[in-house]
Amino acid sequence: MSVVEEIRAANQAYANSWTKGQLPLPPARKVAIVTCMDARILPASAFGLKEGDAHVIRNAGGRTPEALRSLVISQQLLGTDTIIVAQHTDCGMLTFENKDIHAVIHKNLGEDASHIDFLPFPQLEQNVRNDVQFLRTHPLIPRNVNVYGFVFDVATGRLISVDAE
Ligand SMILES: [Zn+2]
Repeated sequence: MSVVEEIRAANQAYANSWTKGQLPLPPARKVAIVTCMDARILPASAFGLKEGDAHVIRNAGGRTPEALRSLVISQQLLGTDTIIVAQHTDCGMLTFENKDIHAVIHKNLGEDASHIDFLPFPQLEQNVRNDVQFLRTHPLIPRNVNVYGFVFDVATGRLISVDAE
C-alpha cells in the first residue's frame, strides 16, 4: 500500500466513528500555537488538545514572521487572545544557512533563490526570544495578547519555558 492509500484507509476508519461535526469554528480555548512542521511533534498529544480547542500554525522552524498572516486572522476574525511559540531541540533549521539551501536549489533546480530568506537560525533559545519579541512589538498584534515562548525537547517530550528578555 502506498502512503496515500494508507492515509485514505486510516481516514475511512476515522470518519466512520466521527462524532464532532457540529463544533463551532472559533477555537474554544482561544489559543494559537506556532510550532515546527517537525514530524516528531504531534501537537494534539504533546499539548493536550482536542478538536475545536486551538489553532495550530506550523512551518519549518515554527517561525513567527512566517506565521503572522495566520495569527492576525486567528485573533481578528476568530477570537484567540493567547499565542504559544513552541520551537524545538534538534530542529533542522539549526543545521543550515541561507547560502546552503540557495546552493542546493541552484544545483537541483537550476534556479536562483538567493532573494528568499528561508529563516534558518543558529541558536534555539535566542531564536524563540526573537520570535516572541517580533510578535510582542508587531503593530498587527494587540498589546493585550499574551505571547509565551517555549522549547519542546524532542528527547524528553517536555515543553520548557523560555523567558523573553
Ligand atoms: Zn524543526
